[in-house]
Amino acid sequence: MVTLDVQKKIIDRLIREGYVGNTEDGVTLYNQLMECFEELNLSLAFGSPTADELWDLFEKFNLFGRSFSILGWLNEWNERRLEKRDAWMLPDDMKPVVEAVAIKIGVPVELLEFNKFRQGTMYVGKPGGLADFINITGDILADPNDPCPLKSIEAILAHEFYGHRMGQSHIPKTWRDEYTASYTAFLKTEDILSKDQRLELFDDAIYKIMNCSSELVSREFDDETYCYFKAIEDAEKLELLNKLRKERVIYV
Ligand SMILES: [Zn+2]
Repeated sequence: MVTLDVQKKIIDRLIREGYVGNTEDGVTLYNQLMECFEELNLSLAFGSPTADELWDLFEKFNLFGRSFSILGWLNEWNERRLEKRDAWMLPDDMKPVVEAVAIKIGVPVELLEFNKFRQGTMYVGKPGGLADFINITGDILADPNDPCPLKSIEAILAHEFYGHRMGQSHIPKTWRDEYTASYTAFLKTEDILSKDQRLELFDDAIYKIMNCSSELVSREFDDETYCYFKAIEDAEKLELLNKLRKERVIYV
């Protein structure tokens, strides 16, 4: 149960921190954040949070990302965030470091393209060889405060190469694709990465199941379809999570 006072503080903070420009947008975003909050059953788990606690939960569970994508503000927000972050490019002196890691873990150096576009480190593949490269940007030096478990250059490159490129990338940008990439990379790197680096991939598979959910967007234009897929995915996600949790107990 969120009190009116907490609601008001959250909306004030959304404006103060530049997430929205006015109270009306603040209310819209707040409502969307709370809807995502309910969808994840967080209100059951977190009772009556203070404004600070609630804000932390929004951040922890990436509800800003979800809400912005539902509201269609994501591109605009990303642009603003990227403008602020002038250091999106990987500095020149770090390129040899990344190349050395690539060679060490069996990723062909010729697949690496540095700072081609600023949307982040990612594999770009198109059928027929129209595109086949890994875009490398500054985020390959992971932010320790970012909740994503992929931290080492080794694990990030393995996710892109052994996961997305060599694995079966079937539905780009969905939780299945992201989960599959990390889990496949985990399976394929037994003799290549250290145990800790492989654990990053394993934990990232769990993280991607829980946090990547572009399917949510489809609700915008088709309520029934969305509800149908969501029900299937929740069961599927739960099954996969249980499977991975059991495996991690054995793996660790
Ligand atoms: Zn990925």
